[in-house]
Amino acid sequence: METKICAACGKPFTPRPQKPRQKYCSSPNCQSKRRQVWQKERLQDDQFHQENQADAQQEWLDRNPGYWKKYRSEHPEYVEQNRKKQRDRDSKTKSENLAKSDVSIQPNTLQAGLYFLRPVKIPGLAKKDVWVVEITPVEP
Ligand SMILES: [Zn+2]
Repeated sequence: METKICAACGKPFTPRPQKPRQKYCSSPNCQSKRRQVWQKERLQDDQFHQENQADAQQEWLDRNPGYWKKYRSEHPEYVEQNRKKQRDRDSKTKSENLAKSDVSIQPNTLQAGLYFLRPVKIPGLAKKDVWVVEITPVEP
């Protein structure tokens, strides 16, 4: 068996027959160094892997322009779900703002028409005799 130089302590050692590519001698310090290096490389690999994934996705989208447009037109339920999520996010922000700031009463600017009325919970507002609703035009 050939003698190698340990990558950590620099002393010569003889790799074990099962591990001909061994780079570190068997001293505990050098073995923990080996694990440290291995973990660091793993982390870097993971990062490269993630970046590659993102790149690959972007490249795929570049090669398939219009994919999302087509997908959305073929999956109206997906679009509706996304709209609903966005509405939920919007109304959350709105009610947070409402709770934070002094509410100034705007002059009535609603046009006659069809609207959705949706009950909204405002944190910190505990009036039981009123409903707080969000009004959304049926046809925006
Ligand atoms: Zn060593």
